Amino acid sequence: MILKAMAGILGLWPFIGFYWGKQKADIFWEEKCKAWSLPKGIGTTESLTILPLIDWYTKNGELTGEPGVSYLIKTDHNTILFDLGFNEHNEHPSPLLRNMSKLGISLDDIDTLVISHPHMDHVGGIKNQFKKTFSLSKEYVDLSDKVIFLPPGMTHPDFNVIQVHRPIRIARGVISTGPIYRSIFLGGGLFPMGFTPEQALAINVKDKGTVIIVGCGHQGLDRILELVHQLFNKSIYGIIGGLHFPVTESRISKLDGKIQGQKLFGTGKLPWDPITKEEVMSQISNLKSYKPSLVSLSAHDSCDWSIETFKEEFGPNYRELVVGQKITI
Ligand SMILES: [Zn+2]
Ligand SMILES: [Zn+2]
Repeated sequence: MILKAMAGILGLWPFIGFYWGKQKADIFWEEKCKAWSLPKGIGTTESLTILPLIDWYTKNGELTGEPGVSYLIKTDHNTILFDLGFNEHNEHPSPLLRNMSKLGISLDDIDTLVISHPHMDHVGGIKNQFKKTFSLSKEYVDLSDKVIFLPPGMTHPDFNVIQVHRPIRIARGVISTGPIYRSIFLGGGLFPMGFTPEQALAINVKDKGTVIIVGCGHQGLDRILELVHQLFNKSIYGIIGGLHFPVTESRISKLDGKIQGQKLFGTGKLPWDPITKEEVMSQISNLKSYKPSLVSLSAHDSCDWSIETFKEEFGPNYRELVVGQKITI
């Protein structure tokens, strides 16, 4: 404790935490993730639609855009809410609730809730990030009738939850990939980012293949693809969501844009070593090797340059990711 305090004073602790987390994340990947296999009897779904309820761009001015994520995923038998948006100004009703009501979505329609990772733009605000919990709005919203899947370390004081430590079946045809960890600067116990587990969904669509749904993409696109390929051992049909490519700008910017949140802190690299165009191009070429038929990149944690580049590179297989616009598989 004394040593930690001293290191903190010297400003060293964030670096110690960052490198220590990096080591731990790599060991978890090598020893755990690479040994995982597909849960038995997951089944398939014939239908699949994804309706973004929160993201950066919106279909029209009636809907609220945020640098956060919440997607409504419908299969043959289930309706899953994936993440809960940012609610940056701690409002009630939250932007998510407002968008849901404008889009005619009721909470009763939803049977399952999945949180990708414990960051503010996915758990409904910074307060929740600090407490490692989640909320749908500033005021209490009852979610006790939902089946709730959280990454390791997250809880909720009022609801029964399932913490996901490995790939598990979420619903018929739907699995969580299990958590992949990333060490994020600033971390190491002084700040709430740090050593971050993130789970994605992988959905087994009949006659098509696997569709991956990602929150922030801290896992690294290469690791997500490798893991899903290892689990399903068949083609990847599509990938939808946040992949964290803030090359030219961040959506979360403070102090008149001088602090570029996602550029500095979400990439798994140090703040003075931001993600480059070359790195994005190399991730794109790796993704192309899986021959996806559908690619849709969230603008909540990627800049317009990355969105435009994805559009060019994937051509007719690229789909806009916009609040209020359904993606049908
Ligand atoms: Zn994040
Ligand atoms: Zn995010």
